[in-house]
Amino acid sequence: MEQRIAKMYGSLVFNDKVMRDKLPKDIYKALRKTIERGTHLELDVANAVALAMKEWAVENGATHYTHWFQPLTGFTAEKHDSFISPTGDGEVILEFSGKELVKGEPDASSFPSGGIRATFEARGYTAWDPSSPAFIKDGTLFIPTAFCSYTGEALDKKTPLLRSMDALNREAVKLLHMIGNTDVEGVTTTVGPEQEYFLIDKEDYKKRRDLRFTGRTLIGAPAPKGQEMDDHYFGALRPRVAAFMHELDEELWKVGIPAKTKHNEVAPCQHELAPVFDTTNVAVDHNQLTMELMKNIAQKHNFVCLLHEKPFAGINGSGKHNNWSMSTNKGTNLLDPGKTPIENMQFLLFLAAVIKAVDDYADMLRLSVASAGNDHRLGANEAPPAIISIFLGDELTAVLDAIENDKLFKNDIAVLMETGASVIPHFTRDTTDRNRTSPFAFTGNKFEFRSLGSSASVATPNIVLNTAVAEVLSSFSEKLSSVDPDAMMDAVHQLIKDTIKAHKRVIFNGNGYSEDWVEEAAKRGLYNLKSTPEVLPRLLDEKNIKLFTKHGIYTETEMHSRYEILLENYTKTLHIEACTLKEMMYQDFMPAVSTFMDTMAQHIIRKKSVSEAIPTASEEALLKTIAEKYEALSAAVVKLEADTAKAEEISDELTKAQFYHDPVFTDMADIRSYADFIEQYMPEDALPYPTYSQMLAYV
Ligand code: ADP
Ligand code: MG
Repeated sequence: MEQRIAKMYGSLVFNDKVMRDKLPKDIYKALRKTIERGTHLELDVANAVALAMKEWAVENGATHYTHWFQPLTGFTAEKHDSFISPTGDGEVILEFSGKELVKGEPDASSFPSGGIRATFEARGYTAWDPSSPAFIKDGTLFIPTAFCSYTGEALDKKTPLLRSMDALNREAVKLLHMIGNTDVEGVTTTVGPEQEYFLIDKEDYKKRRDLRFTGRTLIGAPAPKGQEMDDHYFGALRPRVAAFMHELDEELWKVGIPAKTKHNEVAPCQHELAPVFDTTNVAVDHNQLTMELMKNIAQKHNFVCLLHEKPFAGINGSGKHNNWSMSTNKGTNLLDPGKTPIENMQFLLFLAAVIKAVDDYADMLRLSVASAGNDHRLGANEAPPAIISIFLGDELTAVLDAIENDKLFKNDIAVLMETGASVIPHFTRDTTDRNRTSPFAFTGNKFEFRSLGSSASVATPNIVLNTAVAEVLSSFSEKLSSVDPDAMMDAVHQLIKDTIKAHKRVIFNGNGYSEDWVEEAAKRGLYNLKSTPEVLPRLLDEKNIKLFTKHGIYTETEMHSRYEILLENYTKTLHIEACTLKEMMYQDFMPAVSTFMDTMAQHIIRKKSVSEAIPTASEEALLKTIAEKYEALSAAVVKLEADTAKAEEISDELTKAQFYHDPVFTDMADIRSYADFIEQYMPEDALPYPTYSQMLAYV
């Protein structure tokens, strides 16, 4: 068994071992240098790598290759070309050149570009990203690539992500050298994303327009039993689900994704999968691939995998926890407190940097997780609030408090610094309880950013995190640049102290779900950006444009283009939801309710025709109640139609998004309240779609 798994793991990946086996030594070395240092790859090297890749891929059953990229649709894109090349005599040979490996030219005109397309050529380029390994899926060799316009503007998520990793690397190494850690040559960020999802029966899914068109239920009365018994969390896996998870694990392992943990989540039919962490770039690619495989494999088991942030009202939605840290090429995790005070000092400096980064760019972090789907979760009592704050735990908070106030941290090994006034205390890894209500929590040797939505790429939050931290590290280096090496320890200590003083407002160890916190956060001056239309304009705030342009992550043009795309995504999502709900009302729900009311009326008449003495009061009362709600519902649907039409007339994209948020979204909520009320009284077989009870209680 162990051998079988070891053999299976990574068997469809062009990984380091395959490269070492298949590539001439000098080519392998050149490629490693490119992977590790980002150096330019010469064409002869690319040719040799392409040849080895093709041979390996064909040996493993591949006939095609594709440049695999992540346009701003939120999904991945691929265009398959076969290796076949006719020789002119009716035969073919299989070919794959270095040029084909390194560069592709898909037509960019059908991918969102947020205005960039209007001013530039439609042509786009994909460029090989050697730092994320190629793999085989369904008979095709997948080559991870970045995607940009003819003039070099990024049209994807990978390009800015790689840029942000470079920025953090540059700034972290500079700072480490400055404080005397001169051995370090590189720093990478690491990510382990925990992915939540729902599985429901395929037959149920097919019958619901809302699930098919929008990924979530737009109406539906709660099932008698939701998640109140907490019996699903970590509960035993149903055999059908276990079979799905088993196949998923194996398929993930084959493509080199280290799927590690799987369990049932809080809500019925909700589950989670977590891989072992990896470098950010690889983790992002792997998460995209994981979501895709989840959907495909679910189909094989007669399930549909729902990745929407809020498929069902009244029970938890799905998110992603982005575990994040920084690690040196010597293998040191910079967010690990370490064993000695000196390591602690370095740790505290990087910790302070993260705290300042989160405080300074809380708006951008919030923005990085904003979507129509995730708006349902953030701020509801199931997911972190829309207010971005940091949980540190008691011990670490006490350490920072000691530093800030020149107190001795009560720990035996605390070391008095030369000045006698200050201490760099030694402390162990934080052991306090987990706080599930915090959006950004320190968990021992990493931070866990918990506000991410389940369906979105994890690239954007990591771009923001990397860049914001890079900026703070850069400001730290600037402050320390003129300090004498002898005075460095004191200066670092002072810098940590100043940073904590200035940014401790973002630290909050209490209950993030409480009303008190909303008030308290407002007093502290923290952002509470509740909806997507409210947060998106922050992208064009001067401070944020400065951040991203300074570090070469986005040009101003790219930021404007992303702003347009995000607004457009929001409005389009709401538009589709509004249209779907209208269609469901007119074509499914309202006719069913009419028929039901008619049946009741007939029933009452027939009873009366037998004898006036037969009581019909309760039926009449129910009919009256339903008929009244039906009237209100009809009026609400008419209003939704009118408001949607008005929204579509608005030309300014922000105003349009705001209008979709209110009144269109509010109209939808109104309709839902009437429909859900009526649904409770309808016989199951009179309803044109499966109810929550049916969907969430399959076996
Ligand atoms: P839990 O949060 O459920 O207690 P763990 O703390 O073991 O679980 O890890 C959750 C996720 O964090 C896993 O994907 C794990 O690989 C990842 N992780 C652990 N260490 C790091 C790190 N240094 N950088 C990024 N992710 C990490
Ligand atoms: Mg976790």
